[in-house]
Amino acid sequence: MPAEFVKALPILQKIRDFGYEAYFVGGSVRDVLLNRQIHDVDIATSAYPSEIKQIFEHTIDIGIEHGTVLVLAQDDEYEITTFRTEDVYVDYRRPAHVNFVRQLSEDLLRRDFTINAFALANDGEIIDLYDGLIDLDRQVLRAVGKPSERFTEDALRIMRGLRFSATLNFDLASDTFDAMKAQVYLLEKISIERIFIELDKLLIANHWQKGLKALLAIEASDYLPGLSNESALLKMLSLPEDFVFTNSIQAWGYLLYQLGYLDGKFLMKQWKVSRDFSTDVTNFLKAYHIRQTSQFTQESLYLLGKSSLILVEEMVAAQELKPDFERITGLDAQLQIRHKREIAVSAGDIMTKFGIKPGPGIGKLYHTIELEIVRGNLINRPEAIFNYVKEKSNDGNND
Ligand code: ATP
Ligand code: MG
Repeated sequence: MPAEFVKALPILQKIRDFGYEAYFVGGSVRDVLLNRQIHDVDIATSAYPSEIKQIFEHTIDIGIEHGTVLVLAQDDEYEITTFRTEDVYVDYRRPAHVNFVRQLSEDLLRRDFTINAFALANDGEIIDLYDGLIDLDRQVLRAVGKPSERFTEDALRIMRGLRFSATLNFDLASDTFDAMKAQVYLLEKISIERIFIELDKLLIANHWQKGLKALLAIEASDYLPGLSNESALLKMLSLPEDFVFTNSIQAWGYLLYQLGYLDGKFLMKQWKVSRDFSTDVTNFLKAYHIRQTSQFTQESLYLLGKSSLILVEEMVAAQELKPDFERITGLDAQLQIRHKREIAVSAGDIMTKFGIKPGPGIGKLYHTIELEIVRGNLINRPEAIFNYVKEKSNDGNND
């Protein structure tokens, strides 16, 4: 048993001392069996949430209606979820009711894939009711129960299936694949935020090409905002097979590039991602476009950020073109300012000195000064900047 489970054993034991069953379940059991790093240890129990709250001193209600209580113990936090079944799914995503049950077997039945339906007992016994161990061994993702029903109940499982194929390098069992393909239109019913989470995990996974191929094969792209251009998605696959994206910004940025976008804001809004993420993706995209035809300048570094440029350069390297990371380092060393507020005089100083009235003119002038400093055409010192303004006003250009 890995350290994370050993550390959590006293929790299982405590629940058992009160006469209930408790097991490790979900992705952590799967990941341990695959020798993968585990991140969250989930516990399932026959105890009801109210009973769990009596057993442990420090608990937080994070999803009582779904049977989940967060327990703070062993210097850590653990989600403890009561065995449950789910009935009548509304809107293809949320079960109308969850019913707490006392049998582990019923709980495992509601899980999505056989390899996610293990339970691990405190003595190390693996409970494998759906031959998940065989599927693990064969590297196959197979829906628990009747695939078409499972994807109709909750279409997010289709995206999860694609994601797991990418993270684990697993194939989809043929009946599971067929059902995913047949029910794929139900993705329309799933919230875009949840789809984003799965697609994002897919893209940054080691075997993203496998996941993307599966995505194309089940024709999911028609149901993903802005991604219905299959030939653009296929172009992603011309990256080397072992290429792995450094992060989500690079993955989405490159995806948007292949889709022909110059700016990512519009599409990213449809995916309801954070404004920061949208900006980062757009900066990557702009940098990538620059790099297709020319070299980066100080201006690109200043406006788009060093990290965007490095992410682009990594893609250049991946495509066996000649990357130039030194250039970015060099540009970075030469930059006189990294932010507008580092300009040696304020817009107010200029207005006072030259009697300029508030309005769009000063904003424009100050922006020109900022860029000239960035480009290395203007030294960032008050006298140099004032001289520059004076010359410009002599030219009559400071409107
Ligand atoms: P990850 O490594 O991303 O955490 P995971 O398999 O642990 O993967 P979670 O979302 O943490 O995924 O869910 C924990 C477990 O709950 C899953 O292993 C699975 O048994 C079950 N589960 C999660 N989402 C679903 C779903 N949509 N349908 C059925 N079972 C699900
Ligand atoms: Mg998990």
